[in-house]
Amino acid sequence: MIGISSISFGEDVEREVLDTLRSGIVAQGPKVKRLEDEFAALVGARHAVAVNNGTTALVAALQVQDLQPGDEVLTTPFTFVATLNAILEAGATARFADIREDDFNIDPAVVADRITDRTRVLMPVHLYGQAADMGELMPLARRHDLAVVEDAAQAHGATLDGKGVGTFGVGCFSFYATKNLTTAEGGMITTDDDALADRLRVLRNQGMRQRYVYEMVGHNYRMTDLQASLALPQLGSYLQQVEARRRNAEALRTGLKDVAGLTLPTELAGRGHVWHQFTVLLDENAPIDRDTLADRLTEREVGSGIYYPKTAYDYDCYRSHPRVVIEDTPVATSVAARCLSIPVHARLSAGDVDRIIDAVRGAMEA
Ligand SMILES: *Cc1c(COP(=O)(O)O)cnc(C)c1O
Repeated sequence: MIGISSISFGEDVEREVLDTLRSGIVAQGPKVKRLEDEFAALVGARHAVAVNNGTTALVAALQVQDLQPGDEVLTTPFTFVATLNAILEAGATARFADIREDDFNIDPAVVADRITDRTRVLMPVHLYGQAADMGELMPLARRHDLAVVEDAAQAHGATLDGKGVGTFGVGCFSFYATKNLTTAEGGMITTDDDALADRLRVLRNQGMRQRYVYEMVGHNYRMTDLQASLALPQLGSYLQQVEARRRNAEALRTGLKDVAGLTLPTELAGRGHVWHQFTVLLDENAPIDRDTLADRLTEREVGSGIYYPKTAYDYDCYRSHPRVVIEDTPVATSVAARCLSIPVHARLSAGDVDRIIDAVRGAMEA
């Protein structure tokens, strides 16, 4: 079976973890600091603040915005549910703007329509590793005085016109096991704002500036040196890993380009895609539906994943939530019914990619 993701650690990671164990410093320490410095450099941000997962990265980034009850965060409905959970955890009201089908990301034209006088934060998600249209979104945010919190959980190192995601607003990254970079569980917040970075560091550590001197109501969002030890060696070869994903994506696009009923993902002009996922869409007139394609790929021992089967708000617990405002998002609803992600990860061999192409071509023949 060719898996949709593949996790493997080299001897360099084993050595780094062993070194941490032997050092006796296992909680937040010098390795977290090193990971912050190296990650900030990768993204091109002044500051990186490590936290214990991508969801708390989003929560913390919202908590430092001083939101009041009734304040709204405008985001995409086509995302992992953590995006929505973070908004609700931070006490804000969630609203949604529809996506575009070409990049699966929030549509600036719909955003412009759905900004209200209570909107405080714009929260785009750089889904599947491709930057949202920040060129259109940032001027909108500036005009309406909105803070920008980027959910970059899937987009480590992605760029727009050469500028790293996570440097447009406050960037939130995840190092969950299946992400492009992993610490098993972990997260990172990036910002160019010195004061904001300082507040995030205090918030992450129980609101404590110096030992037992509390400056704000805080939390324990700390990452550990054990976790950082997993990611440090990966960072050294990360750009090569991205290059391998890009090569695989290009081979998949070439091998599948004439398959009737299938729309392939594209890297839009100016965007440096890091191909966290390679997601195809089954067209309305496709010979089979999405679930049939997934089943047939399983029979051919090719893994696939549905990211995501429904819009984030389309569950009873959110539909009945007093702080979730639901409006139509027809593109996201349609895409959720037609999307399927197939393997693109860096550990695929050329033979694996050929097998994936053959399996998809065979499966799509009615
Ligand atoms: C993974 C992910 C998160 C949450 O990250 P965790 O580290 O799992 O908490 C948030 N948003 C998106 C889009 C994600 O893919």
